Formats: sequence, C-alpha cells, structure tokens
Amino acid sequence: MTEPVTMERHGDVALIVIDSPPVNAIGHAVRVGLLRAIEEADADPSLRAIVLHGAGKAFIAGADVRELDAPTPAPLLNDVLLRLESCRKPVIAALHGAVLGGGFEVALASHYRCAAPDVQIGFPEVKLGLLPGSGGTQRLPRVVGVQVALDMMVSGNPIGRERARTLGVVDREVETDNLLPMALAYADELIAMKAPPRRLRDKPIPAAAAADALFFETYRAGLPASARRVEAVDRIIQCVEAAVSLQFDAALARSRVLFEACRSSTESKALRYLFLSERGSGAKGAEPRRVERICVIGAGTMGAGIAVSGVQNGYDVTLIDTEAKALEAGLGRIRSTIDTAVAKRRLTNESGDAAKARVTGATDIAAAADADLVIEAVFENLAVKQDVFRKLDAVCREGAILATNTSTLDVDAIASVTRRPQDVVGMHFFSPAHVMRLVEVVRGRETSLAAVATVTAVTKRIGKIGVVVGNGFGFVGNRMYYAYGQQNQQLLLEGATPQRIDGVLEEWGMALGPSAVGDLAGLDVGYRARREWADRPRDPAYFRASDLLVEQGRFGQKNGKGFYRHEPGGRGRTPDPEVPELIRAEAVRLGIEQRTAVTDAEIVSRCIHALVNEGARLLEEGIASSPADIDVIWCNGYGFPRARGGPMFYADSIGLDTIVDSVRDFGWTPAALLVRLVAEGKTFKEWQS
Ligand code: NAD
Repeated sequence: MTEPVTMERHGDVALIVIDSPPVNAIGHAVRVGLLRAIEEADADPSLRAIVLHGAGKAFIAGADVRELDAPTPAPLLNDVLLRLESCRKPVIAALHGAVLGGGFEVALASHYRCAAPDVQIGFPEVKLGLLPGSGGTQRLPRVVGVQVALDMMVSGNPIGRERARTLGVVDREVETDNLLPMALAYADELIAMKAPPRRLRDKPIPAAAAADALFFETYRAGLPASARRVEAVDRIIQCVEAAVSLQFDAALARSRVLFEACRSSTESKALRYLFLSERGSGAKGAEPRRVERICVIGAGTMGAGIAVSGVQNGYDVTLIDTEAKALEAGLGRIRSTIDTAVAKRRLTNESGDAAKARVTGATDIAAAADADLVIEAVFENLAVKQDVFRKLDAVCREGAILATNTSTLDVDAIASVTRRPQDVVGMHFFSPAHVMRLVEVVRGRETSLAAVATVTAVTKRIGKIGVVVGNGFGFVGNRMYYAYGQQNQQLLLEGATPQRIDGVLEEWGMALGPSAVGDLAGLDVGYRARREWADRPRDPAYFRASDLLVEQGRFGQKNGKGFYRHEPGGRGRTPDPEVPELIRAEAVRLGIEQRTAVTDAEIVSRCIHALVNEGARLLEEGIASSPADIDVIWCNGYGFPRARGGPMFYADSIGLDTIVDSVRDFGWTPAALLVRLVAEGKTFKEWQS
C-alpha cells in the first residue's frame, strides 16, 4: 500500500502531499502521516516553508464518516492541527476542488492559503448533525467575523473562490493547471519576505458582534424553525459564543465537548446512517447498458420534469406527446425551467443553452426508434399505458429499456403486452421531477438485473437516488403513505381539524402535513387512483374525508379549495370552517363518534406507527429489501425528518416493543415481523444483517 501522506523537497520548501483517493478524506492513516510529515518538515533547518497539497480532484473533502461510529483513534485531527499551527515556518495550504469539513479546518490551521478557481470551501458538518470539531468553530470567526462564520456553519453551504477571497479566507489566487508551481512560488515569496507563521489562534475576533450581548439571542431567534429544531445548530452557536467569551484553548476544549455531544446524538447517528444508506442504495450484480439517448413519452407535468433532469445532465432527450398542443406546452415548460435555473445561477448560460439544445419534440411514437431508454409518463390508466407499450415494443430497437413512471399500476401488467418483459422496469419519479431526488426503481416479475442496473445508473447520473423496490400496489413509498394517510383520514372523521393534525406532524418534523400534501398533489389524483385499485380496502371510512371533498368539487390547490382554501398563485393555506363541518356530517352518517380529547402524542403515534407497521409488512413481503431502503425513500420522497433517520430508524430508536404495544392499543394487528423482532430482542437494523 502506498503511503497516504508523503513529503518532497523543492529547494528549501517542503511539499506535503495527501494522496488518499477518491477525495483525500481524513482517516486515521492520513492523520498519522500528516503529523509525521509536519514534524519532519518543521524539525529540518534546511526547510524554510511548508506547502500542503491534496492529490487528485480535491484538497480534502472532509473526515471519514465511517470512522465516527467508534471512538477516534489517536492522533485526533484537532491535535494534528495544533501541531501544524505551531510550526515555526510558514505553512501554506494550496487549495483546489473540495475544501470541506476537516479539509477546511486543515486550511484554517495553516498560516497562508492560496486557491484555484474551482475551490468549494465550507463546513457541511451540520448536514450530518455535527460541528467542525477540530478548531474550525474557533478559527473561522477570527477570519470572517462571527456573523458570517455562523451563517456558513449553520447552513453548511460552501462558498467559491471569489467570496472566499473577499472574506479573507484566501490570500492568493492560483491557476488550476499550475497550482503546485504557483503555490511553491508563493512559498518562495513568503520566505524572501521573511513572512512569519500567521496563527489564527492569536488573532482577535473582529469586535462588532462580540461586543453585543444580545447578538446570539437575536441570531437564534432569527433562524427558521427547521434550523432551530436541529440540535447541532445550537451547539455550533454555543461554540462561537465560547470563541467570543473564552481564551482560545478553553473555547477549543469546549468545542470538543460539544462535538462529542453531537457525535453521540441520535440526530447525528440518523443523518450519518442516511448519508451512507443513500450511497449504498441501488442495483448490484449486473453491468448497466450504455444509455445516451432517452425518449420521454407524455409531455405533462412529470414528462417535462423528467426531460429537464435528462438534458441538464448530458442526455439527448426526445419528448413525445400525441397532442401537439400538449407537446408545445411541455417543451415550453422545459425551456422555462432551464431559464429559471440559469437566472438563479444554478446553471451557467452556456450549460443552459446546451441543455435546451439537447431536447427535441415529436408527436409520432416512431421517434422512439433509436432511444436507449424510454420513460413513459402518460395518463395513469392501464389500458392507455398498455397501448403505448405495445407500440414501443414494435418501434424500439432490441436492447432498449422501456420504463414506466406509473405510481400505482402493475408493472407486470404493463410488461406483459410486450415481447421483452425482461427489459421493462418501473421508474417512479416524484413531483416536481426535476427537483425531487428519489426514484423508486420497480423490479417486475421478469425484469432483468441488467435493466435494473441500467436505470439505476441513469438515475445516479441525473443526480437522483434510485432505490430498487418490488412490484405491488403503491410500491414502497405510496403503499406506506396510504397506511399513514388513512390515520389522518380517521382522525379527521373523529373530529380533529386538518390544520391541527398537519400542525402537530409538521412540528414533529414532517415537511408538510398529510392534508396539505393532498391539496398539493391534487385530491382528485388519489381519488382516481383508488378507483383503479382493484383490491382497495372496502371499509366505507377508507379515505372518506378526501373522497368526500372531491365529490364536493374540492380538488386542492389546483382549484383553490381542498382541505384548505388557497389563494391563486399563493403558497399559503387558510383553514376553511366549511371543511370540518362537511367531514363531521359524514362521520355522523358513518356512525363514527366525535372525540374531543385527541392529544398531540396520539396524532403522532397513530400516523407514524402506522407507517412503521406497514414498512415491516413490506419487508416481510420482500417488496422492500431493507429498512434502510425504506428510510431513504421516506426521507427523500415524502418529507420525513432526516434528523429522525426515517420511519424504521426512528422505530429502532424508540424501541420496537413501544411500537408493538401502541399498535395493539390502537386495535390494529402488528406485522408478524415486528412481533418476531420484539420476541427476539432485535431491531430493524439487526434484521438487515
Ligand atoms: P399529465 O396529465 O400532466 O400528463 C400526461 C401527458 O401524457 C399529457 O400531456 C397527454 O397528452 C400525454 N399522453 C396521453 N396519452 C398519450 C399517449 N398515448 N402517447 C403520448 N402521450 C400521451 O400527467 P402527469 O401528472 O405528468 O402523470 C404522468 C404519469 O406520471 C402518470 O402515470 C402518473 O401516475 C405518474 N406520476 C405522477 C406524479 C404526479 O405527482 N403528478 C408523480 C409520480 C408519478
């Protein structure tokens, strides 16, 4: 094995190279190597400056997330950086690519920083429920001031070179192609100038904010509720408070204690678990086929969004709709979505133009002939979809993959009308398709591993997370959503208002409560899907509140009234007193008793435990392959709070016995898998292994 850290001599400059592919993450071996190289370079009197460089495409992209589950073996990065900062000769960090987390801490402990144009500098720790634990919370405010330091650490978003230069994080600009020669020349200049080591620990914090006693209180109060709920955010603020009020070493020690509190928190464990699960999901066991040309059938809401994802990520896309007007409208939506991305600087002008040039439209399905992958997104109706697949089977080349974006229909029934069911697969996107990261990749009875691997690879290339699921009504996500949504319906019929239930679940962390989700998606969409669902439960109360509203002409946001009233174009929702009245009358008709004393805790446990119970059934049935897959689906497609790790992780964290007890208290049947795991004293996590 090659050493992850090496030292070369360039005249009187030591060049320390960190080479630990793919992104030079700081694991134990890197820390050991870095410490050794620093000590050697500092001790050698013939060396007068030190340059730190990351080989490959990044300086250092952060710590090694996998190492965080166990106590960190010495040396800690914090200690390595104290030693680095204490060097008696100038240390220059030569930055390029990702300079994130621990990588940014290395840069801040260095005395001077030069940077290539492609740098992305930041502290994304908060996204894993952590804080910069090796002095970053102490050194950053000394460079950029308290306010900017807090904003960077609380948001977790990186900055580019221009901003870093303005803020004083970067001292010198260098070129990507010439990074090392320019960094070495910078070192020579500093030697010639007799520039001293410049230690941030000795620099006072810029005064303004530090002097204002109310600053931190005001800062906390000004954060959005979603940030205030994150424990790591408050701990980051405490670290910066310590930086202002204590000496460097004492404040650093305090930040170590707060880091450990983060590391052992359920919140951070949940976020780290999701981070690793999202990277681990997808198909294994077959080579993906080559895909360059994608054809999308149906230029509606979903088709246009899917096409945008394709062209923005380098695919040529043909959009087909039998209705010329629908096609024009779809092409227009694609163009305006890309224009908006350019206006918001998420895309450059050139890449926006290139993306628009990659899309073509057609009204004849024959245009799908040379596609490598076809994604069908026509109306949600089996006969219509089967007709499309019959035609595709006739025109598409051999080996092309035919995918359907159905949300509820049977993928096998769609595949059965073709002569190539092995090449038919589900690709269940979520709305808006160019934004939502989740795709359920549905493996039908005859779908080949190669087809699954191919669509998983495409999903990844368009920046999304593909989770492979089995074929059954609603697949994994929507089937669980029905179990959860039905509890909402039941609570509504028992007299709780939509705003009460939504409010409680949103406070618990769901991005949007279930009635608000219904209004957003269109209550009529679910209404129609339930009528297409042959085996739907026959209970007259099943989704009765939603269906009743549809029958009253209330479709949700699209016509300004559903569970709530909606102003045209507005995002807000206004409770409508008419709705509880309608639902109450229906409850009376169904003989459902009104209850006045429904607690917040009951609302949460009924809805969330129903999710867990249904998730367990999906595991038993093999529709979901692992608890982690379920959690990735729910956190990326349904707004489940990431800090709780997903329904199955959450169930483990509160104890499966608690879930089973409450499921029985509610009078439901617990899933056999839940009962078995409790009897064996196991968790979902242990079931997986
Ligand atoms: P939509 O009504 O907006 O668009 C459907 C388009 O398909 C229309 O433009 C129509 O002209 C076209 N079309 C109909 N028959 C056709 C045919 N034979 N050949 C070519 N084009 C045809 O529908 P949508 O909301 O975009 O949904 C499309 C699919 O995506 C459905 O299967 C739906 O269940 C699924 N889906 C929708 C959502 C959502 O939130 N809207 C989410 C996930 C999946």
